[in-house]
Amino acid sequence: MITTVIKTTDPNQAATQGAAIIRAGGLVAFPTETVYGLGADGLDGAAVNRIFEAKGRPNDNPLILHVARKEDAFRLWAAEPPHARALMDTFWPGPLTLIYHRSAMVPDEVTAGLDTVAVRMPDNDAARALIAASGVPIAAPSANLSGKPSPTTAEHVLQDMDGRIPLILDGGPCRYGVESTVLSLVGTPTILRPGAVTKEMLAAVLGEVALAPSILAPLGAGEKAASPGMKYKHYAPNAQVLVVVGEAPEAATRLSALYDEFIAAGKRVSIAATAEALPYYGQRRTALLGTRRDPGTLCSRLFSLLRELDGSSDVILCEGIGTEGTGLAFMNRLLRSAGFRVEYL
Ligand code: AMP
Ligand code: MG
Repeated sequence: MITTVIKTTDPNQAATQGAAIIRAGGLVAFPTETVYGLGADGLDGAAVNRIFEAKGRPNDNPLILHVARKEDAFRLWAAEPPHARALMDTFWPGPLTLIYHRSAMVPDEVTAGLDTVAVRMPDNDAARALIAASGVPIAAPSANLSGKPSPTTAEHVLQDMDGRIPLILDGGPCRYGVESTVLSLVGTPTILRPGAVTKEMLAAVLGEVALAPSILAPLGAGEKAASPGMKYKHYAPNAQVLVVVGEAPEAATRLSALYDEFIAAGKRVSIAATAEALPYYGQRRTALLGTRRDPGTLCSRLFSLLRELDGSSDVILCEGIGTEGTGLAFMNRLLRSAGFRVEYL
């Protein structure tokens, strides 16, 4: 069993220690502006395989390569992707991952055998210092056990990775709290996973942008996932999550009724509530997600709230919202964490 150490030193010092582990083929968890990543040398297939082992991740689910400088992205792709320069100038460093045909440098283990590779440049000094000091692109998925909510603090990473990895770099809570927007530039630009860079923001640069159908709905039987990650159970706490989508007072009325039914059945229940609905729940057990006026705050709280409530709840009831702007990223993660158990009022 490995002893897991958490380091809160300044970014450069921590990067030196982390880079030594990465270069030796080991794993390091590190902060980004989205969620904590679990990194390995992205050009070393054996090192990348250790990520899949530590997470229990199915190895047909490809990883994102993280670079410290924009120029470093281009050698990972077979050619310059259409629109890439404009997108990188506008959104990098930041929570936007770009997918295009891969170059021969990229090992099969990273792409899970696909002929495309996903690349991004994180907007976090500690992350970029680690990548730069390692001298290689770092392959990194979220640093949670496969299927669990993504970690947004070093403490969350420790909950899932204690004894599995040697080092967690602690950069405090993540700014966005949901993973990057994943955009494929093969054919019509298509969002495979929504994030803090919204469809509306991308459309301002690209004109047209498509949405993969599986963003808000489960895959149909026999349907092929545009992004392999979409076919798996995801972001799910041990508690059962149930979602009700509607205006604040109506959602609160319906969720209160569900709450009372579960309590009568002897279950431990909690409600993840928005500020707008909070006054309608009376004495029921609630936790505040944030305000509907700013879905970004709902995103940043969602995973940490699911982890917080998990230990003390059999059922977590949660309000759903509209899918404009970052509401789409919020609903994408929430519906998956609920296994698509949702009511629309
Ligand atoms: P995570 O590593 O947890 O942030 O997940 C990365 C997401 O990007 C998963 O949903 C992957 O399926 C997706 N992804 C990574 N590389 C590719 C690719 N080449 N084609 C399609 N989806 C990808
Ligand atoms: Mg993940």
